[in-house]
Amino acid sequence: MLQMAGRMNRLGTESAFEVLARAGALQRAGRSIINLGIGQPDFPTPEHIVEAGRKALADGHHGYTPANGILPLREAVSADLHRRHGIEVSPDRVLVVPGGKVTMFFAIMMFGEEGAEIIYPNPGFPIYESVIQFSGATPVPMHLHEDRGFSFNAEEVLALITPRTRLLIINSPANPTGGVVPKAELDRLVAGLVKHPHVAVMSDEIYGEMVYGGAHASMTTYPEIADRLILLDGWSKTYAMTGWRLGYGVWPEALLPHAERLAINSHSCVNASAQYAGLAAMTGPRDAVHKMMAAFNERRAYIVPALSGLPGFRCPDPGGAFYAFPNVSGTGFDSRTLQSRLLEEVGVATLSGTSFGAFGDGHLRFSYAASMEALQEAVARIGTWLARLNETPRAG
Ligand code: PMP
Repeated sequence: MLQMAGRMNRLGTESAFEVLARAGALQRAGRSIINLGIGQPDFPTPEHIVEAGRKALADGHHGYTPANGILPLREAVSADLHRRHGIEVSPDRVLVVPGGKVTMFFAIMMFGEEGAEIIYPNPGFPIYESVIQFSGATPVPMHLHEDRGFSFNAEEVLALITPRTRLLIINSPANPTGGVVPKAELDRLVAGLVKHPHVAVMSDEIYGEMVYGGAHASMTTYPEIADRLILLDGWSKTYAMTGWRLGYGVWPEALLPHAERLAINSHSCVNASAQYAGLAAMTGPRDAVHKMMAAFNERRAYIVPALSGLPGFRCPDPGGAFYAFPNVSGTGFDSRTLQSRLLEEVGVATLSGTSFGAFGDGHLRFSYAASMEALQEAVARIGTWLARLNETPRAG
């Protein structure tokens, strides 16, 4: 009998990939499925970026790169952070990794162990809680409130801090809610954190360029916590590059060598051609990015009121990312049942709010990174199905 380490039983997953597989199976069986379950842009990577990746391969970039990433790419990240947030970050503090997720894994494993506590957003990206459990630390949920546009209350978060707190994770704009934390709330959080110098902060800003109506408030603009802030960002969402596996972390000087050692012990470096593609993404024309953002904004303007118009649905206005997170408790279904019936009976893939933590109960996540026609068809199908259910008395 093989005996695995006990921590393997504590590792969770991301249901989005399971729903993707089930939707694929139904499609292969001939069903028409509209997939609003997975969180990735429905656009191809812009052509000049793809071309830079091809050119890197043709030019012979086939070997290892430095573990932290090629220097021009780290310089481009520095320049990009300056352009977006007006901050000075040395390229030496940038660690290029295979996807946004890797910075998260490194940060949590660096601080998490038995007896330690890590505060994380709930509902939130499921991998936070999963890796915290895996590390042995105690996950301490930070409640995001629907009536605050899925932001947190800084005082509430600060009250969760104990002498055992090692790391605080924040994510704005957020998955799964699309919530954006207002700058005033971040100000209050940072002011309070000054009194807790033992707490490191990881700010997941992977949706940082997807903010509708207003600028993105970045945690990188607070010098008070710069020496303990880990920034998680990457190319997946902004440049439609989820499959390239390219992300980066900006690490405080004291933590950087440890993060680099984790990289050397796991993936060595990111594949070279993806790094050259990422360089073209950050230094090249931005019109494709603007076009994608405009499309997301247009779809958001459609889907939010459309979902709110469905019986039993109430959809707060998401300020960022490409997710709508309606409250569906008025339908009388629990969110897991509704997710499963919408997929099996209606052919619309969504994700139950419970896939994002206990506080996601009563909600469904719709990724609106899909064509307007697909969104309209999905809403129409759900509307017809709900109307039919409401006509016939429900069994059981
Ligand atoms: N953070 C959040 C909040 C995300 O939603 C995702 C992807 N769904 C990631 C990080 C990971 O991104 P990547 O695919 O680059 O690993």
